[in-house]
Amino acid sequence: MTYHSHLDTSVKADFSQALLASLAPGGGLWMPDSLPFYTSEQTAKLGALPFWACAAELAQHSIDEAFDETALKSLCEDAYNFPIPMKTLQGAELDTAMTEVADEYILELFHGPTLAFKDFAARFMGRSASELMKSKGQTRTILVATSGDTGGAVGDAFLDQDGIRVVILYPEGGVSKVQQQQLCTIGKHNSNVQAVSLQGTFDDCQQLVKDAFADKGLSEKHNLMSANSINVGRVIPQSFYYFWTSLQIKAAHPGVPIVYSIPSGNLGNLTGGIIAKKMGAPIDRFVVGNNTNDPFVDYLKDGEYRPRPSVPTLSNAMDIGRPNNFPRILDLLDKDFEKVSELCWGASFSDEETERHLRRIYNKTGYIMCPHTAVGHLAMEAFSKDVERDFIKVTVATAHPAKFADSVERIIDTKIDLPDPLAKAMKQEKRVTSLAPTLDALSDYLG
Ligand SMILES: *Cc1c(COP(=O)(O)O)cnc(C)c1O
Repeated sequence: MTYHSHLDTSVKADFSQALLASLAPGGGLWMPDSLPFYTSEQTAKLGALPFWACAAELAQHSIDEAFDETALKSLCEDAYNFPIPMKTLQGAELDTAMTEVADEYILELFHGPTLAFKDFAARFMGRSASELMKSKGQTRTILVATSGDTGGAVGDAFLDQDGIRVVILYPEGGVSKVQQQQLCTIGKHNSNVQAVSLQGTFDDCQQLVKDAFADKGLSEKHNLMSANSINVGRVIPQSFYYFWTSLQIKAAHPGVPIVYSIPSGNLGNLTGGIIAKKMGAPIDRFVVGNNTNDPFVDYLKDGEYRPRPSVPTLSNAMDIGRPNNFPRILDLLDKDFEKVSELCWGASFSDEETERHLRRIYNKTGYIMCPHTAVGHLAMEAFSKDVERDFIKVTVATAHPAKFADSVERIIDTKIDLPDPLAKAMKQEKRVTSLAPTLDALSDYLG
């Protein structure tokens, strides 16, 4: 498949060029020239495959000759070795043996090694980028700004890969205690993954990454690559799980419209959903949940886009005032506000509303959501009030609640168990460097 810059369609690249270059010249975002469309007969066959095999089939169309079918299959089988359960709030799981009909599911995308949905994209991207670099004999520095979950997923995906150094920039005080511990303990002492705590906000981290890329000298010296969702290699794999899970739901609930609610920040997850729909996934609409950083929800009201500085909230991975993938959403929907607002419905919520909801759901059902998932679930609830007809509600659970144990335990007044990888990280000593949010400081640090 060929990719083009969203700023200039005559600027083209193949997948490996788009992946390794991160941004198009002039700062454009890479967009697929065309997407394959699968008929319902074809999608039924794809839905009957295991997730990793369906992912490999979809990936075939996005990736150029660099990978043959066998290579893609083993890449996906290796990357996606964890479950993707869809659960009811009462804990029943969607499967063929399900006897009771549910109209609502929580799609738990947090069963990968770093317990957030970012693993889906990072593990695919990590494996494909490493293969491409190996074949080109290159060394690279991967610069990644994180609001908490991307850094861990990307660090884990590239850990111990020869010729690759990963530098994770996170906002000092802007990530949860558990996330910070996870970010600062990836690999052994001399690992190729380094954590930098930046004296600024997540927007500062993102800006610094953009500035570093724009600085030709610095970018060439270190052969910089971005692992943020500005990179099309992050966005494409996020379509796989929408495609596959919507087919599982369709099989269990034939003929009923399916609506996904996505707690959103940079809109990379939503971009993946829209790509899946364009490829033929049976998805009716998307609900978007924002915290008080809500430029997208605001845009959906009147078609005016007003990016703004971010403010810290309980759902810190969504503290984004200028979503990176907003131009991608517009591009995928022909820059037509009507189309965007027909497909997407949005609502935003304060921390107070999020806390109350998280506590209410826990008291009522025993299900524990992370604060981001609670925002998505609130948005789905608000959307449902507006809709008369029957539909299947799917709320995307983006992270395991234990990643936000400090706030979640306070909110529900109950201890939650840390899954193994987190419990292990909590026992290790942190390795981190604190930096001022300036290009000079970053340049000195990179060496
Ligand atoms: C990254 C993240 C989000 C936001 O996803 P976007 O693709 O940036 O919209 C939501 N929840 C969690 C837990 C995240 O880590």
